[in-house]
Amino acid sequence: MKNTILGLSLAFVLLFSFQSSFGYTVNYEKWGPKIKDVSTVCIIEPDYLKSEILTESFSKRLMDETRISISEWEVQLKNFERGRDKSMWDINQIPISLEQQKDFDYDQCHIFIKFKEKPDSQDEWYKLLGKTVYEIGDTGRSDITIYYDNIKFCKTEDKDWIYFDPCYEAKPRLMQQIQSVVKHEFGHALGLGHFKADKLDVSIAWARGTITAPSIMAVFSHQNLNENIITPKDIVAVRSIYGENGFLPDDEKIITFDSFETSSDLFVIPKGELAVASVEGVINKDRYISGIQVDITSIDPNHLVQNRKVRVNSEGGFSFDKILNENTVNGTYTIFATYRNEKSPEILVEVQPEIIELKKGIPNWVKNTVGWWAEDQIDEYQFILGIQHLILIGVLNPESSEELKAGYLEENIPFGVKIPRYVKQTSLWWTEGKISEQEFIDGIQYLIKKGYLVI
Ligand SMILES: [Zn+2]
Repeated sequence: MKNTILGLSLAFVLLFSFQSSFGYTVNYEKWGPKIKDVSTVCIIEPDYLKSEILTESFSKRLMDETRISISEWEVQLKNFERGRDKSMWDINQIPISLEQQKDFDYDQCHIFIKFKEKPDSQDEWYKLLGKTVYEIGDTGRSDITIYYDNIKFCKTEDKDWIYFDPCYEAKPRLMQQIQSVVKHEFGHALGLGHFKADKLDVSIAWARGTITAPSIMAVFSHQNLNENIITPKDIVAVRSIYGENGFLPDDEKIITFDSFETSSDLFVIPKGELAVASVEGVINKDRYISGIQVDITSIDPNHLVQNRKVRVNSEGGFSFDKILNENTVNGTYTIFATYRNEKSPEILVEVQPEIIELKKGIPNWVKNTVGWWAEDQIDEYQFILGIQHLILIGVLNPESSEELKAGYLEENIPFGVKIPRYVKQTSLWWTEGKISEQEFIDGIQYLIKKGYLVI
């Protein structure tokens, strides 16, 4: 018991050092164009007659919502083409009902969307919510599988620990979770990779949904109940992959910019510090003429336009750095380059101030929950929901254990939970007033950080 108290005061010191700053940058992976011409997406209705989970009406709704989720990509891509013909972003969709499947001519499909209860391989259980596989060779064909079985937590215990591990439940996931996965996987089919922050804790917060992800291509976990949306960042990323002609073939198009990109899509300026935003690109060698400069245009969130001329080196390369400080206008910037009257694709860059974590008190319902659990009146799962709520409102920082970090970075992380039995004693002390609320928070935070409590 003495050890626990020592742990508590040590945690108090630790807290102030790691919660101070929240600056990070992001990397938006782009895997290159995958779709060619007008692609036909075939949505294959799952066999609800053979499924113990699906009803006919759920299965019909699944088909409809999948079609709508893919249309959202098409509509948003087209909305960006102000005043132009929009047919370069056409996507053709064919829902194929159970009755039609036997006689259907599948040769016309470029992208398949199929539904399955869960991954075949047990190694992928709980980790994959959906999967996109490209056909070998540069064919523009891909296969998307969406897993619809709901994931909950199942309880087991031993002498020292109580475990809550993910397990499948014989009912479908929430429709909005499935929609998020459809949009995410279709983003892969378009050639987008993942949207990752260089701070793992930020990526984890996006995955859980404790902070709304700025891109549909952030990795999501099964705990994320938000309706995740396709953002302007995602649309700009697709446009930067395909260029002016969209999904249509390039023909004899003049290519002026071999590349044009910023060092990050998102800049967070730490309080009192500076950040450097850099833009760089390469002029195609057939278009390069010595002595002509590139014009870089930046439109700030207040629509203020700034132009800057930069030199192009003999290899065609150019770059431009801009210092960001506390006075920099926050919001979305549009940046593009012009060379010999040809415009590069536009890039959207987000500038945000540092987020300072607010520490609020513990809501009464959580305190009651913890107290009831300590007195054995309710089970651990209610306790976990209470602790998860504290993470959600920022009282606890999900800065996570090494164990969790090691399992991250792949498609989706299973968030299992385990509680050491002695946490009950700490909880009892708090509800009996023997330790303060802050000591309780710090104690739980310490356990999470050390990986003794995995939430
Ligand atoms: Zn993914």
